[in-house]
Amino acid sequence: MKVFKFGGASVNSTQAVRNMADIVGSHADGPLVIVVSAMGKTTNKLEQLVPGVRPAAEHPLLLEEVKDYHWQMVRELFPDPQHPVYTAVGQLFTQLERQVSTAPTDYNYDYDQTVSFGELVSTTIVSHYLNSIGLTNRWMDVRKVLRTDRHYREGIVDFAATQERATQVAEALKECPLVVTQGFIAGTGDGHTTTLGREGSDYSASILSYCLGAESMTIWKDVPGFLNADPKFFPNTVKIEQIPYNEAIELAYYGASVIHPKTVKPIQNKGIPLFIRSFLDPQAEGSAIGPFRGIRPLTPLYIFKNNQVLISIQPKDFSFIAEDNMQAIFAVLAELNIKANMMQNSALSFSLCIDDNAVLLDLLRQRISPQFQLRYNRGLQLITIRYYTQEIIDRIVAGRPVLLQQRSRLTTQLLVQQ
Ligand code: ASP
Ligand code: MG
Repeated sequence: MKVFKFGGASVNSTQAVRNMADIVGSHADGPLVIVVSAMGKTTNKLEQLVPGVRPAAEHPLLLEEVKDYHWQMVRELFPDPQHPVYTAVGQLFTQLERQVSTAPTDYNYDYDQTVSFGELVSTTIVSHYLNSIGLTNRWMDVRKVLRTDRHYREGIVDFAATQERATQVAEALKECPLVVTQGFIAGTGDGHTTTLGREGSDYSASILSYCLGAESMTIWKDVPGFLNADPKFFPNTVKIEQIPYNEAIELAYYGASVIHPKTVKPIQNKGIPLFIRSFLDPQAEGSAIGPFRGIRPLTPLYIFKNNQVLISIQPKDFSFIAEDNMQAIFAVLAELNIKANMMQNSALSFSLCIDDNAVLLDLLRQRISPQFQLRYNRGLQLITIRYYTQEIIDRIVAGRPVLLQQRSRLTTQLLVQQ
């Protein structure tokens, strides 16, 4: 049994859907679970439709955009207007309209009830399309299988409950060896929809791979594999053929955008190999994450994060930055769910680098202001280099002043002007 994950870009047009169907068709020799994200940039659009985010007067236009995009796809893929996909998608849009017009309650809760329609619609279209070309499959509502707690927008997975429910999927696969299901979304025990955090479909595929004991998991992407740098930032990238699990976890943690950071752990626990392959060149080999000893080829790896802010925090009473002060600062960071991308500590101040977010920055300042003074510096770039040399650092920094730097044996992080 294998698990394939197709992200938004792999189903963002009719041509893309046909291409993904070709890939599925050429691997239909054994049981396969297909995990699909929302089409193209649908999740971004749905975020605007979460009750309370935009004035209700803007809803009709935003809704039309989402609907038109999908209806056009449906019309091109299913020329017969009597095809049942029209009713299925129509019902989902009716439910979405109802959801969008509800009064705002808790933002995180409303968010999950709204954005989840992206995956419900995409998998409905994909499942019907595969059926229509002879790739008989079963559509599965993953919210009934993948169980989380009520931590809306970032559900914490209940692996035991999910494992138990996954037996239904294993049974379904015996009857119909192709199952199509949603990434990113999940459900609570009392039937509410949750999500796993943005870009969480990789993680969904990994959870299902774990619970079903898959022989492998493949993420189909618009890049040839795990590259040593994001091609958007770097002209001459090198494809890494083999990556040990721990190395992949570390790279995702530092911000390598090729996989969601939570993806690797579950499959590592069961020793399931993870392949990253290109849906644009499906014959090419891609990259493998598995129980390897080191990366191959061994080459420097670069991760760039823009829009960083360097915050420096000082106690107002001129005390030292000691354990009690640190504890107070970390409590606020944890409460506001602010992730430090890099931290440094000196006798008189504590520095941390975070993703720029004006709202959170303001909340942080308010919360710590009785005890601490906060200063910050925006518009920065955080560069992480693994397998660095001084020569590489000099070339990448290119004479820009370095505001903060950290080095361990294999990894260095540098904060510079963007
Ligand atoms: N559709 C979701 C997002 O855009 C999940 C995913 O693509 O992995 O974040
Ligand atoms: Mg995506």
